[in-house]
Parts: sequence; structure tokens; C-alpha cells
Amino acid sequence: MTLPLKQQPMQFTDTHAVDSAKAAEKQKAFEAQVFQLQQSYANLIGGIGEDLSRPGLLDTPIRAAKAFSFLTKGYGQTLEDVTNDAIFPSNNREMVMVKGIEFFSLCEHHLLPFMGHTHVAYLPEGKVLGLSKMARIVDMFARRLQIQENLTQEIAQAVMDATGARGAAVVMDAQHMCMMMRGVQKQDSSTRSVAMLGQFTTDHQARNEFLRALPPSKF
Ligand code: ZN
Repeated sequence: MTLPLKQQPMQFTDTHAVDSAKAAEKQKAFEAQVFQLQQSYANLIGGIGEDLSRPGLLDTPIRAAKAFSFLTKGYGQTLEDVTNDAIFPSNNREMVMVKGIEFFSLCEHHLLPFMGHTHVAYLPEGKVLGLSKMARIVDMFARRLQIQENLTQEIAQAVMDATGARGAAVVMDAQHMCMMMRGVQKQDSSTRSVAMLGQFTTDHQARNEFLRALPPSKF
């Protein structure tokens, strides 16, 4: 049985929407997207023969819609949004490294989660990035439909673009639910992906310094 779905008012939180017209526009688009997802989830649940009118499932379409919208909110963000001008002049040319940034993403092949840790390094060229912004860059790309290899590359490229660095390196260690819950059902495997850009591709000392500083995968 399918129930008529009502579009509910909800707050889209965007701290970077400067003018109110733009904020109102984003709010409207967000509500329309969640409503569409809500209908899709109702079809999905009905599609497996479940009863949408039973108490446990009554609000599931709207809850799942909001959750999916959150898990893919990276589509609504740009590099400028997330770095938010936190780029500072610096004479330090030594490697900057942020290790163990946890991330959660969705694989684009099965829409199942993959999650793990990201390690990022770059070689500054006159500019450094606020450290928390590194984590925001990781989240912006992770909160989209992804494969781990591309995600790793996109983070490295974004660090290059934001800072004009001489090089950027990213390593990601992850576990994939589509390998654990279905398919080959392997619970203990983990996947490491690497992206090296700029001087990290030619400077073996920098590359080794970064790789040697990494903690072992926690999986
Ligand atoms: Zn998958």
C-alpha cells in the first residue's frame, strides 16, 4: 500500500549562503530534492513488498531522504565554499601532513558505504591552507557517489588548486560494504589508494617521507 506523501518544511543549513535570495533559492531546491527522494524511497520500500503504513515505516521515506541528501551534500559545495578564504601566506616550504582524517562515502556502483581514513600531504609554495579545511575538502568529495580511486585523486587535485602547492599526495585506506555485505563477502580486506601530484611524482625523497610517516591501516 502506498500513502500520499506530504512535502515537509525543513531547514537547509548553509553557513556560506551570503545573500538571502541565494539562501532562499538553495532552500527551495533542497526541499524539492528531499521530496523527490522521499517518493523514491517510498517506491523502494513498497518494491520489496513492505507495508509503508506500519508504524515503524511511516516516516522512513522522509528520514531516509534526509539521510541520503546529507550523505551526498558534497554536490552542493565548491572548493571556494569549503576553503572559505582560509589560505594564508607562509615561507614554510617543508611538507605539511594531516593524517587519519576519517571519511564516509557511498560507492557509485552499489550505493553502499565505504569508509576509512585519509592522509594528506602537500609541499607549500608561499601559501598554506587552514588545517581543518583539509578535512572539509575530504568531506566535500566523500559526500558524493564515488569510487575510492577517483576520490583520492580529486582530493589531491583540490589541495593543489587551493594552495598552488608544488605537490600534493593523498593515501586512503578504506573498507567497502559492497565487498563485505554482498558479492565476495570478505570482511577483513581493506583497500589502499594513492594519488601523487606535482613534485611527489618526481621527488622520491618527499614521496618516501610521506609514505613512511603513515600509520598502518586500521583495518
Ligand atoms: Zn560498490
